[in-house]
Amino acid sequence: MAHDAIRSSLVVDEQDNATLHPPKNDATPKINLLGMSRAELEQFFESLGEKKFRAGQVMKWVHQYFITDFAQMSNISGKLREKLEKVCEVKAPEVVHRNYSKDGTRKWVFRVGEGSGSLVETVLIPADDKTGARKTLCVSSQVGCALDCSFCSTGKQGFQRDLTPDEIIGQLWVANQSYMEDVAVAERTRSVTNVVMMGMGEPLLNFKPVVKAMSLMLDDFAYGMSKRRVTLSTSGIVPMIDKLAEQLDVALAISLHAPNDELRNELVPINKKYPLAQLIASAQRYLRKDGNESARKHVTIEYVMLDGVNDHLEHAHQMVKLLQDLPSKINLIPFNPFPHAPYGRSSRNRIMAFQKVLSDAGFVCTIRQTRGDDIDAACGQLVGQVADRTRRAEQWKKKVAQQHEIVRSQG
Ligand code: SAH
Ligand code: SF4
Repeated sequence: MAHDAIRSSLVVDEQDNATLHPPKNDATPKINLLGMSRAELEQFFESLGEKKFRAGQVMKWVHQYFITDFAQMSNISGKLREKLEKVCEVKAPEVVHRNYSKDGTRKWVFRVGEGSGSLVETVLIPADDKTGARKTLCVSSQVGCALDCSFCSTGKQGFQRDLTPDEIIGQLWVANQSYMEDVAVAERTRSVTNVVMMGMGEPLLNFKPVVKAMSLMLDDFAYGMSKRRVTLSTSGIVPMIDKLAEQLDVALAISLHAPNDELRNELVPINKKYPLAQLIASAQRYLRKDGNESARKHVTIEYVMLDGVNDHLEHAHQMVKLLQDLPSKINLIPFNPFPHAPYGRSSRNRIMAFQKVLSDAGFVCTIRQTRGDDIDAACGQLVGQVADRTRRAEQWKKKVAQQHEIVRSQG
């Protein structure tokens, strides 16, 4: 079948079209299979006159063995492999920078889009235990973000564009693949155990691509992750929380950051559109769509600790009241400063006093450990080169000052 005919035989809507990833001015753009759901791939193989089960076979090669070359897909006939090579590709976003920290944290900067493109970041944070068994990947959903929360460096960039499904799932693909580069194909496994959609962007404002990528995370033919280990984090786009409830069973995290509307309007401006009462009600509805094995036993409440701003004990008491009818676990996040940020990080003592109020009221309340500081990979520092440049400038200044000190002390 001609290439164009194959493309048009796929039922795609406008947003899904991005999956096709056609390079401009290329007479034979290839179809990128990386971001396709199982249903889409099945349809694709049927359109080639092939059996549906080919979809599962190819998915396993791609997502479980990290093979992008069709020639290596040995359980697929030579004829079909040739056909696939002509019209398809398996292409993850381009890694322009990677950095592996001493504490096990890994960070990748991807270039997405054509030409010079835009940059997005992905961070892998290993568990704090000795086994190192847990590896959590912080995945981006957009380049920049339109919501402009006052403490968030991504928000300061403004919104540039949505990521496509292949660009989203590609982050997980690259992270897993990075552990398997020297492993024989037959012995490859998936190393990332948890995904949090807590990188750049607001995932619920890029709904379809995010849902598609997350369904690949859960799919047994792809990453087969437990739904409790796949978390979508949102600043609170209420109607989309309801839509998510209909479409996907994953864990939900709400970026709360303030326990009353007045303060939240200031820190998380989307609160003016969807105030706290609406947000809490939507989280309750999300949990009500509970199944036996559901990921919806509780929501995670994220709360960034800003010194003197939202960390008074009064705020903790307000939070107890606000969350009294919402099964929730609370995660206090020490603020990660970035250049020109108008806030400071709450002291350890203040954070612990805040935590105590919540724990005494019966909440499970943890304090997030800040990781990956040495590679600018900590949460909220996903701002790419601007932050990197500033950090380098700071480090340089420190070095110069140290040298001055040495020269002075040597008389
Ligand atoms: N847009 C989504 C997901 C990405 S932000 C959301 O807001 O939930 C992921 C998390 O990082 C959010 O809880 C966010 O509030 C937090 N965050 C942003 N900037 C931060 C900073 N400077 N320090 C600590 N956490 C930050
Ligand atoms: Fe966007 Fe989340 Fe940052 Fe707010 S905290 S600006 S919603 S990425």
